[in-house]
Amino acid sequence: MAIFFIGFNGLQKLDNLFYDAISRVEERPTNKEILIVAVDEKSLKQLGRWPWPRATHATIIDILTSSGVSAIGIDILFSERDASDPEGDVKLASAIANSGKVVLVLGPESGGSGQDQLLSEVLPLPELAVEASMLAHVDIEVDKDGICRRVYLRAGLGTPHWPAMGLALFQVAHPNLSLPAVASIRATENPISAGWRRDSPILISYAGPPGHINRVSYVDVLNGHVPAGQLKDKIILIGTTAIGLGDNLATPVSSSHTLMPGVEVNANLLASILDKRILRNGSVKVEVAFTLLATLAMFLWLVLLPANWALPGLIVAALATLLASTILLANQRIWIPPTTPLLLQVALYIIWSWLDLGQQNRLSSLLRKEIHLQARHDVVTGLPNHHMLRENLKEILAEHAGENFKLSILFINMSKHRAVIDAAGASGIDSIRKQISHRLKQAIVGGDKVYRLEGEAFAVLILEPGSIAQLETVAARLVQSLLRPFELKEDYFSLLPSIGVANYPKDGTTARELSDNAYAAMHRARKHSFQRVCFFSDQIKSDVYQELRVIQELRRQNWQEQITCVYQPQIDVKTGRIIGVETLLRWHHPQLGNISPADFISLAEREGLISPLGNWTLSQACEQGQRWQETYGWKLRIAVNVSAIQFSSPDILNIVRNTLTASGLPHHLLELELTETALISNKDAIISTLLALKDLGVQLAIDDFGTGYSSLAYLKDFPVDRIKIDQSFISDMHISKESSGIAQSIITMAKELNMQVIAEGVEIQEHLDILRALNCDEVQGYLLGKPMSPGELEKAIRNGELQA
Ligand code: C2E
Ligand code: CA
Ligand code: CA
Repeated sequence: MAIFFIGFNGLQKLDNLFYDAISRVEERPTNKEILIVAVDEKSLKQLGRWPWPRATHATIIDILTSSGVSAIGIDILFSERDASDPEGDVKLASAIANSGKVVLVLGPESGGSGQDQLLSEVLPLPELAVEASMLAHVDIEVDKDGICRRVYLRAGLGTPHWPAMGLALFQVAHPNLSLPAVASIRATENPISAGWRRDSPILISYAGPPGHINRVSYVDVLNGHVPAGQLKDKIILIGTTAIGLGDNLATPVSSSHTLMPGVEVNANLLASILDKRILRNGSVKVEVAFTLLATLAMFLWLVLLPANWALPGLIVAALATLLASTILLANQRIWIPPTTPLLLQVALYIIWSWLDLGQQNRLSSLLRKEIHLQARHDVVTGLPNHHMLRENLKEILAEHAGENFKLSILFINMSKHRAVIDAAGASGIDSIRKQISHRLKQAIVGGDKVYRLEGEAFAVLILEPGSIAQLETVAARLVQSLLRPFELKEDYFSLLPSIGVANYPKDGTTARELSDNAYAAMHRARKHSFQRVCFFSDQIKSDVYQELRVIQELRRQNWQEQITCVYQPQIDVKTGRIIGVETLLRWHHPQLGNISPADFISLAEREGLISPLGNWTLSQACEQGQRWQETYGWKLRIAVNVSAIQFSSPDILNIVRNTLTASGLPHHLLELELTETALISNKDAIISTLLALKDLGVQLAIDDFGTGYSSLAYLKDFPVDRIKIDQSFISDMHISKESSGIAQSIITMAKELNMQVIAEGVEIQEHLDILRALNCDEVQGYLLGKPMSPGELEKAIRNGELQA
């Protein structure tokens, strides 16, 4: 671009504008050595019409010479003989010869416009020319915009051998001074071409606007009105200034359309030489170097500084370029047009901004892709996640809409025990998840896909699953591989897989329906201890519906009118008397019928709704116990189940205390039943809660003992009063040696730890007999009494069925 603009002068107009602006501010005092003797209107008035007789010019040359001028330049072309006055030519020739300081002018003959049209030169008459001290050309270059800025110090026909008028006058006036460097270039000897040749271009450094250079009227000199002292040692330029005579030129300094006479332009050239203010155009090499430097500076700025510095950079670079250009012109007398570098800087800025924008766009689209990818993938396993599953399902279903097409979706959950989590830590859990992911990927085939949903839940999408039997085989294979223990920190852990299967189109036609149903089936599999894989069915569907309804009802808190407490007797084995009751909930729903506490308690726990229900039960039970005591004097121990979540609430202590106070029940008559899971985590905090409860006087029992993971050894640090052997060990103790063995060891150990033992689920006499033989303290079960309403219980006692 730089070479194009410089080479083709494409931007000259703009450059000229800058140049002219700089020239105008550069005005300087007139050079006193130069004097123009002007052929002006005044002279024309007095001396008559132009041209004047040559004798007149001879006279003025004589006057000037005798006044002691240092050189005379006559900017009048004497190319033809004056036929009417041959004497005049002779006089002029002798005056020129006498003076010895006269420079005569010649010019190219214009056959048209432009340099190549100047095919010949017009010389002064030979008899004058030979007498002249020098001949000089007055060829002044006019730029395309009509303004005269430059002059060629040498020009001529064939070779540029004639000096410019200003240069010639300088040489005549100061033969001993050396020529300005640019003018001393030797013109080539051999003609280059037949046309007019120019060489050594310089820019005229105009001293000021037209009229700035000292002027006197021709006629005043002629009439002796100009004192000799004013002429002495001056370099005289004689030329026309009157309008209509000779050439008048537009210059950078001629403001408001005032033109400058050709003679003054030449005088300005002379002034430039005398003042040593010759301006030159920088060579193309210098111009290119300057341009590249300016562009490079801009480029470095853009590369090295942040993006938002680009525009200030452009402004700074542009100003610096203009400044450099001005300084070079003012100090170094070299004119380097600034437009090309300026334009390149702007171009660079635009290109850069555009590229930068492109890069930003590319970056942000990359980022978007990455975010999209991350949002649909699990970081730990690298597997696609549930968003991806939903998306893929939708795509596949849309693709095969209306076709006879089958698809199965398997939801897999790995239930892990707390101990595993505690032992593994976060990194260990990640490692286990990776192992699960690996095994699943190995167990599937072809186009089937594995997803990780959350926690230890995964999904497998099976396209074209074949028959149910084939699908069962696949599921069994998955279970097999997941049942193998997982390796972790040189240890092994087993997790329990539960798989729920939903089939398209039987179990659902939308992505959402299929996912929900597979999830429901998985949930069912999780609940069944013996069935690891569960296919979605209508039964599950209605159960799920039921569950949702129950959750709704729990949320709405409608249950208070529908739920009642029943009480199951607890009997002292030795005396056969009722010593306490366990409070159990019964929910009769007008539409849903009887809802088992085993179901709604776990739902309430899952949905975070257990605390209000539990607190309500506690106060119901306490009030009932107090009522019995007040009415009948029965000091029955009231056992209340407390769920793990309820127990871990920080205000459990306050709630128990307040409830006891409100009901008036003696503290030692309340017993809280806690399951092992409530006691397993954060042992210290639990012990302190238990101790606080003991301080209150409340009794504590461990429910369902034997089903959890803790041992009596672990529990010995807990201040509990009673162990409830889980009914699963009781129900078959009459046929299973193992169960009775377990019951026996629990009883033995409890005794050693000073704890009481109660057996629950005592259904037949045999159970009671065995337990009595094992020295069990208390029993509870259908054999001794079903859970009953307060009224039923009172009746049973009054009947003697139960001994108070
Ligand atoms: P659980 O605490 O183990 O309660 C004993 C369960 O065994 C009761 O079932 C009871 O009716 C039943 N049962 C009693 N004797 C026998 C027997 O001889 N044979 C058999 N097969 N079962 C017997 P229920 O009332 O259905 O309660 C189920 C579970 O619901 C309870 O198990 C308890 O975990 C929970 N639950 C009930 N009421 C509450 C409550 O108020 N709060 C809390 N947190 N959980 C409760
Ligand atoms: Ca219980
Ligand atoms: Ca129990």
